[in-house]
Amino acid sequence: MGEQAVGGEVAVFPWAFIPAPEPGERRADFFTWPDPALVGLRFPYFALRGRAAGPTVAITAGIHGGEYPGPLAAIALGRTLDPAIVRGALLILPLVNQSAFWARSAFVTPGDGLNLNRAFPGKLDGTVSEALAHRLLTAVVDPADALIDLHSGDIFETLADHSGRYHTDDAALAARNAALQAAFGLPYAEVYGAPTAPRSLTGSAAARGKATLLVEVGGNGRASAENAATLDLGLREALRTLDTLPGTPRPRPATAITEAAQVLAPVTGLWCPAVALEQEVAAGDMLGTLTDLLGEPLADVTAPCGGMVLYYMTSLAAHAGEPLVNLARR
Ligand SMILES: [Zn+2]
Repeated sequence: MGEQAVGGEVAVFPWAFIPAPEPGERRADFFTWPDPALVGLRFPYFALRGRAAGPTVAITAGIHGGEYPGPLAAIALGRTLDPAIVRGALLILPLVNQSAFWARSAFVTPGDGLNLNRAFPGKLDGTVSEALAHRLLTAVVDPADALIDLHSGDIFETLADHSGRYHTDDAALAARNAALQAAFGLPYAEVYGAPTAPRSLTGSAAARGKATLLVEVGGNGRASAENAATLDLGLREALRTLDTLPGTPRPRPATAITEAAQVLAPVTGLWCPAVALEQEVAAGDMLGTLTDLLGEPLADVTAPCGGMVLYYMTSLAAHAGEPLVNLARR
């Protein structure tokens, strides 16, 4: 994708904030950004530059602090991929939000209380999340042809493995995104609407015309080797599709999700889910109950429409307005 590899041409390394590896080599190190809000933060990275020209691909993980399979898989991939067989260049950022990671914070960045993945496009002189969002978008995504961002269910959430791509009217880009999603090979494949005023990293990348995939594997704060292996397989297949790695990708069939309904907590209370992952429910079916601290019923939570349980909250503590269950329509 992007520039086609031309025989004899040397791979371009487009990320200017990192010293470019020699062609055919890997650099594993830390970088810093000079913005006041980001002083003191050392970001781990793996940079691989192939010998042959090819696409420039960024892989990010750890935007949210309690999603562990992504960082595990990104580190393993960064350490084991052979740069000699890579075409183009690959930048892997396995843990972009260390403040949230070390605080074990599910959504928000300590220091500003913002959800980094709702802080895009960010701003240079902003808070830590805003400055980070700005840098990720302008320094990491803008020079790349493609972005894969690894997420999981958060610490209080369990989910069925799925990926998401964005609708676009650009037929060529739509085909590339669909191929990327099929290659990653997760059981459920969601298609989001075209991003308008995106606040997430993937939405912003998609809006800038990048081939983009959002990946959701694992959850509940588990650093699961099985989940990391699922991601490793998906990433390698995706990199074949992008032409970063040699070999023919083997796309695996997925169930398409065309629409998803978020069921929010009507009140704050103790949440007892009554559903399982991948369970089919009909409109009106019981999804769970909310009680007060004496066990008195506060609300029955029922399905507003039919669908399959794609993810749900596992925390006993539920705040009014938080998503309890996500119902996907096929
Ligand atoms: Zn996440």
